Amino acid sequence: MDNDFMPDCPIPFAGSQVDFAELHRSEAKLAELQAESRASTILLHKGQVASDGPQLLRAAPAQVAALPLYDPGLIFLGFEGDGDPVFAASLRDDSLLPPDALIDLRLQGHRLAADALALAGRARSIFDWHRTHPFCAQCGQATVSSEGGAKRVCGACETEHFPRVNPVVIFLIEHEDSVLLGRGHGWPPGFYSALAGFVSPGETIEEAASREGLEEVGAVLSGHRYLFCQPWPFPSQLMIGLVSQARDKRVTIDKKELEDARWFSRADVSAVFSKTGEAFMRPPRTTIAHQLLKAWLGSASG
Ligand SMILES: [Zn+2]
Repeated sequence: MDNDFMPDCPIPFAGSQVDFAELHRSEAKLAELQAESRASTILLHKGQVASDGPQLLRAAPAQVAALPLYDPGLIFLGFEGDGDPVFAASLRDDSLLPPDALIDLRLQGHRLAADALALAGRARSIFDWHRTHPFCAQCGQATVSSEGGAKRVCGACETEHFPRVNPVVIFLIEHEDSVLLGRGHGWPPGFYSALAGFVSPGETIEEAASREGLEEVGAVLSGHRYLFCQPWPFPSQLMIGLVSQARDKRVTIDKKELEDARWFSRADVSAVFSKTGEAFMRPPRTTIAHQLLKAWLGSASG
């Protein structure tokens, strides 16, 4: 039964083939790698990524390093293919890029090949972390990037800081072959998706889903089943996908959190995905909510 739940492979933003190269991050080694003829740099600007069709636009590291860049300059993403070094840079001036090269990963990420999307997402998360962590959380003094952007180190107390990933549960609520989906305030008309919430300190994944379900829609949940998860680089979540069983179909909406929540039958969801019905607008293909609904549709009833 559980094997019936299979996502599209790979999960959008996951499946990067790049080796993070933990052991090759000394200053000397990074300088050597930047000078390699096979080395390349992917280019970002304010969270957007420069693309060249389904692939990412690339430039030579030496050429990019001479441009005005946001902190921390070039970051080393790792080795791809046969050991080709790949770096990333966040440009201060996007006028250097071809017109329309920059894409918004959240809205246009589906245009990229799977491995390009995964690499771009990782770079976006890492740059966002650097941008928001210029100071030490221990003593308040300035931090500097180290090991090609893999961490930041405080110049005063020498505390090391590493990029964070925040766990979020995202869950389809199921009862009698229907799913409960919600919509937030200000979402596009007709758009419904799986409920989600951050895991709080001291909670398991299951406890977080039960709490969120009770808070947001008054649902008493049990029988949580983990399906798959997704890195979500806006800015840095790990979306943990579940299907959870509701005791009944009663719904009490927390209007501060949600504008609406509604049960949809398997036939409703199936029609939406086959584009023969319009019970709701489905979440974009790059989201785990889309993949969860698709996996649920592909699973056996009950
Ligand atoms: Zn410090």
